[in-house]
Amino acid sequence: MQHASITSRRPTRQIHVGKVAVGGDAPITVQSMTITKTADVEGTLQQIYALAAAGCDIVRCTCNEIEAAEGLARIVPRSPIPVIADIHHQYKMALAAMEAGVHGLRLNPGNIRKPEHIKAVASEARDRGIPIRIGVNGGSLDPELYDKYGGKVTPEAMVESAMREIAYFQEVDFDLIKISVKASNVPLMVEAYRQLSEATDHPLHLGVTEAGPLPGGLLKATAGIATLLMEGIGDTIRYSLTADPVEEARAGRQLLEALGLRERKNVDLIACPSCGRAEIDVIDVANRAMAAFGERQIPLQVAVMGCVVNGPGEARDADIGIAAGNKRGHLFVKGRNVAVVPESEMVEALVEWAEFIHEHGVEAAIARVDTAKAEREAAKDRSALLAEKGEDVNNANERIVEIRKKS
Ligand code: SF4
Repeated sequence: MQHASITSRRPTRQIHVGKVAVGGDAPITVQSMTITKTADVEGTLQQIYALAAAGCDIVRCTCNEIEAAEGLARIVPRSPIPVIADIHHQYKMALAAMEAGVHGLRLNPGNIRKPEHIKAVASEARDRGIPIRIGVNGGSLDPELYDKYGGKVTPEAMVESAMREIAYFQEVDFDLIKISVKASNVPLMVEAYRQLSEATDHPLHLGVTEAGPLPGGLLKATAGIATLLMEGIGDTIRYSLTADPVEEARAGRQLLEALGLRERKNVDLIACPSCGRAEIDVIDVANRAMAAFGERQIPLQVAVMGCVVNGPGEARDADIGIAAGNKRGHLFVKGRNVAVVPESEMVEALVEWAEFIHEHGVEAAIARVDTAKAEREAAKDRSALLAEKGEDVNNANERIVEIRKKS
């Protein structure tokens, strides 16, 4: 379902994280990371289940102490999605995590630097068939490379860090590799990934690190990740937000769906931005509709439009939509008016129709009503509104009289 405007995906090798394929022609996957203590097995599993429900394909948990590794031994067999252990500083934690049965590791070459340690981990991973992500991070770059590149974090320095790690892995004949070169600076991160994709065909994990709280963090992460995906670069993604990790999973999923890189799983709610013609509070109705659909897996595009004058036409591609007019809600399916409901029942009707279409299809939905009658009703409200608001949406003449009275 790749859209023609996306540069064709750069060919990469394929690896498997547990049962999930990454790279090659595998769908681009969404990752997130738990924020519980990994030793808290029940709490961590609860978060993993919530992440999986929100669209996360692979989860990462920190493995920073022996209790965390023990926790992983209990978490892994009960997790609905593959589990990766995040390792910093202590190579022995990587060995412990593999013993715990994790499906993958993330190593930071900036803080595990001894070649014998790196090779010990890679040899064990090779014997067990466990993939490793080389997770270069602009904020924790190897100090030697930092100095080499003039005391600056540059795309070249980040790529060199990744390539050095690959060379150590090659020495022990290990190639189940994916790579990330994350930075919190978007142009730096984009350039680092571009250079990396020229230098290697290992699958790439995209992310803008420490993107921050919502909404700025979402924008930064999207700017970096989407730019690269549109260039055909990237095999798996993670939003690093200072927020509930469920937001990360949702964002990742929604971005891939918006770019046409993953099949739609949940409702895609579109809504007009509202304007002087709006007959309802579009923001309120759209939010209520969002809440009513929640996490329901109805892969349809649903529209909330502020007026029946332009709404059904502007959202004619939506599977189901509603437009307001004269205190009534006009439901339309693929641009065809199908029913009229009181304004207070708009959201309920929208959900009911979406469920029906999801189960029985568009044709069956249209067949169950008198579309000609619905169209007559819509036309009536449309012309009433046009007569009332057609020439002067903002009632300027009346407002000017009021302004003059008060000045
Ligand atoms: S659908 Fe109607 S209310 Fe919404 S932006 Fe368009 S003209 Fe304005």
